[in-house]
Amino acid sequence: MARDPRYDVLFEPVAIGPVVARNRFYQVPHCNGMGHRDPSALAAMRAVKAEGGWAVVSTEEVEIHPSSELTPYVEGRLWDDADIPAHALVVEGIHRHGALAAIELVHSGMSAPNYHTRIPPMGPGHRALTRGSDAPIQARAMTAGDIADLRTWHRAAVTRSLEAGYDIVYVYAGHSLTTLQHFLSPRHNRRTDAYGGSLENRARLLREVLEDTIEVVDGRAAVACRLAVDELVGSEGYGRADIEELLGMIGELPDLWDFMVGEWDDDSVTSRFGAEAGQEGHVLGLKRLTTKPVVGVGRFTSPDTMARMVRQGVLDFIGAARPSIADPFLPTKIEEGRIDEIRECIGCNICVSGDFTSSPIRCTQNPAMGEEWRRGWHPERYSASRRPARVLVVGGGPAGLEAAMVAAKRGHEVSLVEATRQLGGRVARESRLPGLAEWIRVRDYRVGQLDGLSNTSSYLESTLDADDILGYGFEHVAVATGATWRGDGVGRWHTRPISLDRALPVLTPDDVLAGARPEGQSIVIFDDDHYYLGGVLAELLVGEGFAVALVTPMTDVSTWTHNTMEQHRIQARLLELGIAIRTSEVVVRGTADGLVVANTYTGREAPLGCDAAVFVTSRRPEEQLALDLAERSGEWADAGLLSMRTVGDAHAPGTIASAVWDGRRFAEDLESGSEWALFRRDGVLTAIDPPQPRPDPGDRPPTP
Ligand code: ADP
Ligand code: SF4
Repeated sequence: MARDPRYDVLFEPVAIGPVVARNRFYQVPHCNGMGHRDPSALAAMRAVKAEGGWAVVSTEEVEIHPSSELTPYVEGRLWDDADIPAHALVVEGIHRHGALAAIELVHSGMSAPNYHTRIPPMGPGHRALTRGSDAPIQARAMTAGDIADLRTWHRAAVTRSLEAGYDIVYVYAGHSLTTLQHFLSPRHNRRTDAYGGSLENRARLLREVLEDTIEVVDGRAAVACRLAVDELVGSEGYGRADIEELLGMIGELPDLWDFMVGEWDDDSVTSRFGAEAGQEGHVLGLKRLTTKPVVGVGRFTSPDTMARMVRQGVLDFIGAARPSIADPFLPTKIEEGRIDEIRECIGCNICVSGDFTSSPIRCTQNPAMGEEWRRGWHPERYSASRRPARVLVVGGGPAGLEAAMVAAKRGHEVSLVEATRQLGGRVARESRLPGLAEWIRVRDYRVGQLDGLSNTSSYLESTLDADDILGYGFEHVAVATGATWRGDGVGRWHTRPISLDRALPVLTPDDVLAGARPEGQSIVIFDDDHYYLGGVLAELLVGEGFAVALVTPMTDVSTWTHNTMEQHRIQARLLELGIAIRTSEVVVRGTADGLVVANTYTGREAPLGCDAAVFVTSRRPEEQLALDLAERSGEWADAGLLSMRTVGDAHAPGTIASAVWDGRRFAEDLESGSEWALFRRDGVLTAIDPPQPRPDPGDRPPTP
């Protein structure tokens, strides 16, 4: 298909100082939980972005010196020459596919506790670390000598960046995460020397480091500056007027401006709390204050919005972290007129959780993310099966849809059978909840792909049993039948069902999602799951007029969403909605009048009257079909059945991302018949060879 001429503007080449970007698609720096620990995996991930058509592919923040490191988070590192080869590998992967490679150098200063090096952090003053760290460590005030050292370290890192082959070198003053921004900000910088006080003084270090960088690169690379254009802390910090003045001073220094707003959680707002192009208002008009090209982000997935950003002079480059994670081939798809094939980011921030948990990045929409090197998965290409087979996928939720799509793309003949009238499973239901509408994209992308494949058939309103399956002659079966929420209180806290009174209605999330509502006014939600659902159901029910209390044994609501950077927004929203938040409490039993709760520390009990309860505690896999089939393994050979596996929530309930990933794993592993094939690991001192060829499924006896 040809490209829509409305999007031509997105494919114009743009000069960035001495280098030229082939189009306007710019993968801005993003963390990935791999960093210096997993260099091969990282290089392969970045290379796939370049392959997918991004003109610029950036690293994550790269620590320039041991005086500032972010352990336990795994970021990039360029401390000395020993770190250059790992970066050269990244650059080589990006260059192989014709993109420019950018490196984001960082000195995190008072944001970094330095757990690894144990060196006391430093910053503009003797101050506690910034709010992102709860470490009982303070930063010390940088002396004139420290400032000179920092400039020397940054210059050395620039030299090493050039040696590694980078085309664009960043000077980073964003996200409230860097020494350069800490100096710029009046809330952190109370110095009385030439680096404190007036804006000119506070910007002195940023200017000096920019000038140093320009001098060192000497035209061999472009210099980018990433700047937080509003700290979003009111008069405590700097704001628009200061930034306009700053651009008047240094607007022409770098070759490119990369503008962002606030801190990381403001820059990467989840779809529950922010829409596409959410930073437009903050960036609007700044481009007029510089002749240099400007990149900015906004979880752009719509090519119309992207083209508008350029046409209206808001941005020169369409910056993207998450949209490039969800679909590394987004530029290519727009270029080839395959808009319907874009795997749109759903704004869940599961990708961010990789960084927060120091584990390789994952993505709900793109299960290949982080698996490019270690498992050899590609977001768009699938290895053709050596032995195409008849594959049955039971259940059309995220896991089943992914399993069916990948198995079909690998050349298998796939039947997808779903009990209900619609595909999508839990995302079809949950995307109707407040703030989660974009999550339906998980279904829509996969259903769109399946529709275009001739070797798949879908059957709705069909419930298969073991008899049916053994009678149809399928060779491989995925049981992706999902999971069901428990109503007995069993979860993390209670390992056995709690005592309940029949007079008190207890609903599960499945009941609520199916439309069940109790009599009466007051509902208590017992959240022992700690991800989003307890909080979202509270929001739903209070919106319908119920008086809602949320009980959690944790010290805050939806606590795991710290990893998706939205916990503070969720808690604020629930408080604003008048939901009674009861932390450090568990429901211990039900009575005819309501519940009894206990404090998690003291064990002290108290009655909590209510008309009904909703338990969000844990789920049971829907695995009966798999158990029935396993029990009849003696009949498999006659039925022609080679393998059967539970997939996704039916295997082990988890996130939508883990269900999608498991769907792909099923389809990838059909030939090996083993879900335990070891993936490649970086840093293993023995030879790192590709995985051994796997046995042909036809050569081994059927196993349950
Ligand atoms: P996952 O996240 O693992 O994909 P979901 O709960 O989202 O799990 O999806 C499971 C899907 O399987 C649901 O759409 C459900 O209706 C369907 N399903 C459950 N049991 C059967 C069955 N026996 N036959 C066909 N479909 C089933
Ligand atoms: Fe988007 Fe979620 Fe993927 Fe992150 S994990 S890129 S937010 S779909």
